Amino acid sequence: VEYYLNNIQKQSHLNAFLEVFTEEALAQADAVDAKLAAGTAGKLAGMVIGLKDVLAYKDHSLQSSSHILDGFKSLYTGTAVQRLIDADAIIIGRQNCDEFAMGASNETSYFGPARNAIDPDRVPGGSSGGSAVAVQADLCLASIGSDTGGSVRQPAAFCGIVGFKPTYSRISRYGLVAYASSFDQIGTLTNSVDDAALLLEVMAGPDNFDSTVSQQSVPAYSELLEPAPHVRIGYIRDCMESPGLNPEIKAATETALDVLRGQGHVVEAVDFPYLDYIVPSYYILTTAEASSNLSRYDGVKFGYRAPDATDLESLYKKTRAQGFGPEVQRRILLGTFVLSADYYDAYYTKAQRVRRLIKEKTDELLRQYDFLVLPTTPTTAFRIGENEKDTLAMYLADIFTVQASLAGVPAISVPAGHDAAGLPIGLQILSGAFREEHLLAFAKSVT
Ligand code: GLN
Repeated sequence: VEYYLNNIQKQSHLNAFLEVFTEEALAQADAVDAKLAAGTAGKLAGMVIGLKDVLAYKDHSLQSSSHILDGFKSLYTGTAVQRLIDADAIIIGRQNCDEFAMGASNETSYFGPARNAIDPDRVPGGSSGGSAVAVQADLCLASIGSDTGGSVRQPAAFCGIVGFKPTYSRISRYGLVAYASSFDQIGTLTNSVDDAALLLEVMAGPDNFDSTVSQQSVPAYSELLEPAPHVRIGYIRDCMESPGLNPEIKAATETALDVLRGQGHVVEAVDFPYLDYIVPSYYILTTAEASSNLSRYDGVKFGYRAPDATDLESLYKKTRAQGFGPEVQRRILLGTFVLSADYYDAYYTKAQRVRRLIKEKTDELLRQYDFLVLPTTPTTAFRIGENEKDTLAMYLADIFTVQASLAGVPAISVPAGHDAAGLPIGLQILSGAFREEHLLAFAKSVT
């Protein structure tokens, strides 16, 4: 703990942590030491973990990196975090992210961007940017983030670490601030696949506080990391031909596929006809869900309240106008529009149908093949400010990560080398729903 506290202080310019729980973490470390001596320590004893600022931890501030939650403290601890603590993990602090997890660069945070440790003029990715940097720069051993459309996988790729999003519903969402509830999933940012497996094993499983969580039993993922000798791998032809794909990332992906072929696996190109539709349907559905989820921030129940309101209506309006940043406001407007009576069928219903098609096709491919392999991102980490003004470019950067989110299947990003400038490249692997033990074992074999 002292080692990490020291690193956090030395690297404060990275803006990875919004708050560090110094005294508490030191006290937790002492308590774990005592348990170790008594032989009663849990599975995660000594694991120093940071939490993205979207996870509820009793009596600790929870802000989703937003002004609108100024001063709010959580009244309870979410299920996943409680299970980490029960397994003797040490919680070291609260990490910077995009406001309400909306973004791909950490630039929408009310607290300013986190910075990529490889080049502090570049973004760490997002929305779990601070969580990725914290692991990259050795400010903690592992981070817990959330992934709605790529928010653990994309920053992991930009920072050269492992980012893992389990199957939708594998981990309880109780205590995770809602962005788009039918997509949101807690995920991990780690140095190794082994740590991702161990954390999943601890956090996953049934929970009375989340009616959507899967009732399936939880395998001992960390003990099942022996890969199958021969597997069938598909790669999506159109992804590799995508015009926005950086040639160095394309080459790294092709190299990885060649290595797999050389190891005796079946590697085949597959067609996925909906690539052009995944980003539009993702942004229609997630903004619709967000506009509904974020209606609870009204200046009455949580956090910030506009000081100059004169009646209830102006309290709502002023609080929301002052409390939400521009990206969150844009998404609430867009979501409210696609849910409005005149446009509901044209946009929302249609996007739900498209989601169904994408899910069915993805599931079909994942029955024909054990894994789909594709790049995590079309580019490496871009410069802070480079895409900030171009909303569409920022949304299109999610092209390779949102397929797994629309389909609800698990996906992992593992490091796959660097570009000529030394910036990390991520390789993404998808498997069928609830096949995490196979996915993790295979991912471990390619790292
Ligand atoms: N970049 C995507 C978005 O802004 C993903 C965010 C996320 O997964 N939370 O919606």
